[in-house]
Amino acid sequence: MAAKIIDGKKLAEEIREELKKKVKKLKITPGLAFVLVGENPASESYVKSKDKVCKEAGFYTELHKLPSTIGEIELLKLIDDLNQNPKIHGMIVQLPLPQNIDEHLIIDAILPHKDADGFNPINMGNLLIGKNIIVSATPKGIIKMIESTGVSLEGKHAVVVGRSNIVGKPISILLQQKNCTVTMCHSKTIHLEKYTLDADILVAAVGKPRMITKEMVKKGAIVIDVGTSKVYDKLVGDVDFDEVKKVAGYISPVPGGVGPMTIACLLENTLECLELQKRL
Ligand code: NDP
Repeated sequence: MAAKIIDGKKLAEEIREELKKKVKKLKITPGLAFVLVGENPASESYVKSKDKVCKEAGFYTELHKLPSTIGEIELLKLIDDLNQNPKIHGMIVQLPLPQNIDEHLIIDAILPHKDADGFNPINMGNLLIGKNIIVSATPKGIIKMIESTGVSLEGKHAVVVGRSNIVGKPISILLQQKNCTVTMCHSKTIHLEKYTLDADILVAAVGKPRMITKEMVKKGAIVIDVGTSKVYDKLVGDVDFDEVKKVAGYISPVPGGVGPMTIACLLENTLECLELQKRL
């Protein structure tokens, strides 16, 4: 039997509708600022889609588009202004930043309660010790997708392929919090298929088109495809969707899977930032 599709687009629409209702009831308009440095067409397109969705949900947004020649000091000054700006409750510095700018320095400068992406080390550290305050949007969305299957996660073997700070590491921690037994794989893993074949839950976050083949997936597994690569102008995931869906129990597509959920969770995070600021 073919796998059930985890429809990230539909789940995200439901989340956004709920958020829209919440925003209508608020006395304050949630504000999200985007900081975009340099000319990167992919980043520009991500920011554009995030901005559109925010506006539809009733958020106030600001886009700060800066040239790649901007220095760290100037960028830090902007972050500081946004930290102090009462209309702005969350901000997103679109990554990657140009090579002349130290990404960590900039992310560290965002106040943890305005860090809508959840990339600040304080928020990441809190996640590690089990205090989920602002959880980065992609892993947060992935957990919602897995939970939407209704399958109990306790005791399941979850295998995460990829160990980046923004996806692989936080999703591994979240799955462990859900009482999964987690294996993290990466580019130096030997015999990757040995691990993936044993996965009840498989999260692929690598960025290599269709690298997860049918032969690497356990029958009935939940497969979440985070990867996005452009192949001849088409967006392609890390999973060979057409083949893997023949063995998996549940599978998320690309596009229409993790991407829209990430955006919906960014909105949710901005509202959570606003709530945190009300308490200050
Ligand atoms: P990174 O490049 O930061 O990390 C990729 C990870 O994959 C690394 O840990 C790397 O290992 C590992 N890796 C590389 N090659 C292999 C291999 N052959 N076998 C096993 N592991 C391997 O990427 P990100 O985590 O930022 O993103 C991953 C993918 O997810 C990308 O396609 C990105 O576009 C997409 N993405 C999608 C989002 C969405 O909202 N839809 C959000 C964020 C990311 P090592 O550490 O050893 O180098």
